[in-house]
Amino acid sequence: MPRSTQPQTLGHEITISGRGLHGNRPCTVRLVPVDAPTGLRFVHLPTGTEIPVKAERAGDLVLSTTLIKDGVRLQTIEHLLSALMGLEIEHLRIEVDAEELPILDGSAGPWVEALLQAGTRTLDGHRRFLKITRPVEVRNGDRWIRVSPYDGLRLRYTIDFPVPALGRQSRELSLTPEKYRRELGSARTFCLAQEIEAMRARGLAQGGSLDNAVVFGSEGPLNESLRFEDEAVRHKMLDLVGDLALLGAPMLGLVEAHAAGHALHVALAQAILADPGCWEWAEEDAPANVRYFFQPVAAALPA
Ligand SMILES: [Zn+2]
Repeated sequence: MPRSTQPQTLGHEITISGRGLHGNRPCTVRLVPVDAPTGLRFVHLPTGTEIPVKAERAGDLVLSTTLIKDGVRLQTIEHLLSALMGLEIEHLRIEVDAEELPILDGSAGPWVEALLQAGTRTLDGHRRFLKITRPVEVRNGDRWIRVSPYDGLRLRYTIDFPVPALGRQSRELSLTPEKYRRELGSARTFCLAQEIEAMRARGLAQGGSLDNAVVFGSEGPLNESLRFEDEAVRHKMLDLVGDLALLGAPMLGLVEAHAAGHALHVALAQAILADPGCWEWAEEDAPANVRYFFQPVAAALPA
């Protein structure tokens, strides 16, 4: 998958089915290529409701990201959005027949594999970026997230859990499709064993199991193994990439996050969009971006 200087959609249609993590109901997702750069749009087939991926449509951010319009609530959209943004597929029609997307294996890996198999098609026009020109920060007590100017998309994330098996994890990464696939895409969602009863009592995680989440007990993960030693912070970065899709365009900036989650990710996207003085549009042929966006992609990517 070479890096594109033009807007990209999928090479051909893909259909994936599975059950939702929270509601445990079946859902089929059909990814349909588009002919013009119109961004990412969901279509809820039972009602015909079209929902653009925009921060103003985000709501209900407890343990997943939800888009809401005309009474339709599309839940747990962040892993698919993460795979799309990570692989620079920024224009697509996403048809769903239920309100919660399949959790699959708890990571974006199965989406990534399917997207890579379908390949991409370029669209006319220039790839357009939301370029941060002034820092923006959102805080909630000790948790915070901020973005500052940077010629590329760089993520610096720290989590700090009072559980020895998780503890403090930090990771920093300048995003490219290859790095996304190799370092973030397959990191699974996680929770603490002690939280499960409370989540279930609230109607959440009804479809959760060790097949679609890492569960940390006091001694360590209950799963047989981890995919990365610091899988948890990598998954947070995967979530962040997905939530930043709500900006409606790829971003150029350095995002630093500490103990954040969906609510803060989305609050940052909303704060950026609410302040036109902190960003401007930039196109992919702007010289400042070239050295970051046109590095050759490693041949390791499957065709
Ligand atoms: Zn997640």
